[in-house]
Amino acid sequence: MIVDTHCHYNLEPLLSSWETHWENAKSAGVIASVVVGTNLDTSKKAIELAGKNPHFAATVGFHPNYFKLEEQLDEISQLEALASAEKVVAIGEIGLDYFRLSDSPADEVVKEVQKQALRAQLAIAAKYSLPTCIHVRDKGAVAYFELLEILSSVKQESAPCILHCVSGPSEYIQKAVQLGVYIGVAGNSTYPKSDTIRSAIALAPIDKILLETDAPYLPPQSHRGQTCEPWMMSETADSLYINRKITADQILSNTQAAFLDKIPV
Ligand SMILES: [Zn+2]
Repeated sequence: MIVDTHCHYNLEPLLSSWETHWENAKSAGVIASVVVGTNLDTSKKAIELAGKNPHFAATVGFHPNYFKLEEQLDEISQLEALASAEKVVAIGEIGLDYFRLSDSPADEVVKEVQKQALRAQLAIAAKYSLPTCIHVRDKGAVAYFELLEILSSVKQESAPCILHCVSGPSEYIQKAVQLGVYIGVAGNSTYPKSDTIRSAIALAPIDKILLETDAPYLPPQSHRGQTCEPWMMSETADSLYINRKITADQILSNTQAAFLDKIPV
């Protein structure tokens, strides 16, 4: 009875055989999946797949790594047209990714563009009262705290915010939790060296924890080195049940709350 709150059936190598992957996931206890967009094209694909499978929902959004050039900001206006499409349950994945960026002037421009893209997409989410699915990654702490600043400055009272594949320093997690965010737990929480991620999960209130695969990325520990497939998430779920003493029922109720009761289970 698991909902995969973040899965890329809309990306290869999952897309061309998504039906098989879904059947395998069902056999592993998955009852619904949120198919997450990463740009205009994959957001449209997410909506298309959600139309084909009664247990799929879709999100639409531009992943921060798609914003290397300012001209791409124009495409965000096209995203708004998708926000009200049937089965769209959130705006995402959106956020900040400074992992491969330096402090060079050129990279500082890229960061600025990412922030503009994030603000513009948060505005769409607010306008349509949609939850947001946030991606944030950095070698240091800058992106995490800049995200907090942006989230705090945007009024999101009615729309939950999900930190997908949670990571980041404890101080950031504590502040994020105070903002009422949901915490997405992915396969990387099972890696022996992921103490920081497990500490982040330990800080999350029991009613704010969600499960996800992020397939085809981040397979859980026993499948590392392979493509992550949606059925593998039972390992992540089992590890979470044990470590946080949380039940599948509780996670399901958290999931419906995070997505405003729109998950088609
Ligand atoms: Zn993702």
